[in-house]
Amino acid sequence: MEKYYNHLNTYLKNKFGERTLKICIDGGFTCPNRDGLAGFGGCIFCSEKGSGELIKSAPDIKTQVTNYLNSYKAQRANKFIVYFQNFTNTYDSIENLKNKYDSSLIDDKIVGIDIATRPDCITEDVCKLLHSYTNKYDVTVELGLQTSDDEIGKIINRCYNSKKFSEATSLLRKYNINVVAHIMCGLPGENRENFIEYQKNHNLPKFFYDESLVPESIKSTIDFLNKHDIQGIKIHSTYIVKNTVLEKMYIEGNYTPLSYEEYMNDLVYIISHCNPDYIIHRICGDAPKDILVAPEWNLHKKKVLNHIDQYLKENELFQGKYN
Ligand code: SF4
Repeated sequence: MEKYYNHLNTYLKNKFGERTLKICIDGGFTCPNRDGLAGFGGCIFCSEKGSGELIKSAPDIKTQVTNYLNSYKAQRANKFIVYFQNFTNTYDSIENLKNKYDSSLIDDKIVGIDIATRPDCITEDVCKLLHSYTNKYDVTVELGLQTSDDEIGKIINRCYNSKKFSEATSLLRKYNINVVAHIMCGLPGENRENFIEYQKNHNLPKFFYDESLVPESIKSTIDFLNKHDIQGIKIHSTYIVKNTVLEKMYIEGNYTPLSYEEYMNDLVYIISHCNPDYIIHRICGDAPKDILVAPEWNLHKKKVLNHIDQYLKENELFQGKYN
């Protein structure tokens, strides 16, 4: 384990023998939670770009990959994973999916394909298609779970239940596809009363960790994930971006974003309680400045990364210590 948790970069370096970078792709997909098949309006935090704000659009997939490989950034590595990020990247006919995936695999330096999607868009046929790439590529599917608490799932308008996540994971594993679960801290509906009360009564000199202040929904989500055969997790701090339902709730006073301390507290819990074998792909959300509404601390991702390392070290904590 590098440092105090399994870091994605180290995992990729060990697996492929050298630094391996991700190429983020907008595959031109939509989402069943927007077009009415599963729901309307999307998850309340989802932006107009379908949670892929950092991608600069190009007309087609092949051009996006070519542009990246020709960019200054790509000179830092020789191996790459194409990452279909925006919206629901298994939501199309099998023929269209194959065409889209194939059009990204255009260079020998590409060693993996990573697909972000919803659990209710995983079918046997999708798994068979993804499996067909496994003889040549490392294949990973990233499933949005956000929370195992289905009541919070309703509040965020997720439009599937956590049972769907379990079913999708079993199916993907049957086809030997890696699964990474996305989870979020700071969703509306989490019980943060203990923390608010604590802050009122204490003049906090600096960050502390107190397990009793972690919401039950975060604890049960980690417990839920630990029972599944998944290979990694992505931990997001909920942030508010422009033109979302969450922004409206915030403006109307119906949602308070997490404080930095609350997020750090959740993060320490998650890392120290999750399966020690998971690869931790991310420990902080990454909102672009131009569309971020709140919280402001979300712009300082490096601070979170450094602080968590320092805190885990000083307190002799590490991934899975309490698993
Ligand atoms: S499932 Fe993903 S793409 Fe669809 S609305 Fe929710 S966050 Fe957005």
